[in-house]
Amino acid sequence: MLTETKTQTFRQVYQEEIAGIRAAGLYKEERFIHAAQGAEIEVEFPQGAAPRRVLNLCANNYLGLSSHPEVLAAAHAGLDYRGYGMSSVRFICGTQDIHRELERRLTGFLGTEDTILFSSCLDANGGVFEALFNEKDVLIADRLVHASIVDGMRLCKAMQDTYKHSDMTHLAEKLAEHADKRFRVIVTDGVFSMDGDLARLDAIVALAEKHDALVFVDDSHATGFIGRTGRGTPEHFGVLGKIDLITTTFGKALGGASGGCVSGRRELVEMCRQRARPYLFSNTLASVIVSGTLKVLDIISETTERRDRLESNTRYWRQLLAEARFDVKPGESPIVPVMLYNAKLAQDVARDLFAEGVYVVGFFFPVVAKGQARIRTQLSAAHERAHLERAIDAFVKVGKKYGILGKTKNEIVERYGL
Ligand SMILES: *Cc1c(COP(=O)(O)O)cnc(C)c1O
Repeated sequence: MLTETKTQTFRQVYQEEIAGIRAAGLYKEERFIHAAQGAEIEVEFPQGAAPRRVLNLCANNYLGLSSHPEVLAAAHAGLDYRGYGMSSVRFICGTQDIHRELERRLTGFLGTEDTILFSSCLDANGGVFEALFNEKDVLIADRLVHASIVDGMRLCKAMQDTYKHSDMTHLAEKLAEHADKRFRVIVTDGVFSMDGDLARLDAIVALAEKHDALVFVDDSHATGFIGRTGRGTPEHFGVLGKIDLITTTFGKALGGASGGCVSGRRELVEMCRQRARPYLFSNTLASVIVSGTLKVLDIISETTERRDRLESNTRYWRQLLAEARFDVKPGESPIVPVMLYNAKLAQDVARDLFAEGVYVVGFFFPVVAKGQARIRTQLSAAHERAHLERAIDAFVKVGKKYGILGKTKNEIVERYGL
């Protein structure tokens, strides 16, 4: 029990900290969605306001499968077939036939040797490094890897080093520098979530072969839609089967519920099954999600129609933004960042776009570096061209209001600061 004074102290400490976050314009408000996930959704914002129907440009629902009727039907069937919950971790009594089936299907889809499921990709990243690597090894990570990889590496006793974002010369130097280690592991995202750029996996694999290093890729923002048949960045770069460890999520393109996996070399996956703590000490993935994810794999294995539509939507949206003269990060993934640099400006623009019926979110420190605030737009196969045309009208209207159309970074920073 805290005494009255201690209670006041801790309340004061956090009230002041939260007030500081608010004062800096960095406070995050949740928006309540009164609908299933989709291209158009009902959103209550600010809290207490009547829900409004808006166009959604900020979900990771890349393939538009989050509310697909066949996925829902499969999930319902899975619920009836194998029940609601397992009330157990995998190795005690939490493994059903369909868990192993999903692991086999993912192995086939990702072009690996074996796969192990986790409750999330965050858990996969949290468990994989500690289970496999120790003081004899070094993890050499791109400086922009996802927060869950940073956390996973922290839990591991291996030495840690980084290379400048996508800088292959720097990576080569680091590989040479650590030649005395048992294993050198190159660690990268496949698609970087804030900029939407792709890791240079062809060059990374070539360096790994030259230096006899292992390659780890988190393909959460790629599995299902990057590459000609959606197998992710390894397919895009022609290195399918050459990645030693892939982690990915089912919480984005693959139906968007939750769950993730580690997929890769047989012995590495087997070792995760023995040692990965989120696997040993956390409940099994719910059967209903397993069934839904299996259906998603059916759908995307039958036809590339959805990833093709996503690709053409992305090209069209980039073209519309370029014609309107927004400052857009170049790239080819369906993550299209509109740069605003100033955190408050990003929030103001997002709020005004919402008033115009377009739902986007401003991203700023600590999610991106200071002075790199932006609105991250994300495309979906569920978008129609008419949606994107409506969105660009709203972007132009708001862009004019803030005088940012056709402006360079320096001009925006001069007017709004960093
Ligand atoms: C979203 C994301 C994760 C987390 O996935 P969850 O399954 O939601 O835990 C991990 N890594 C990357 C690169 C991601 O984008």
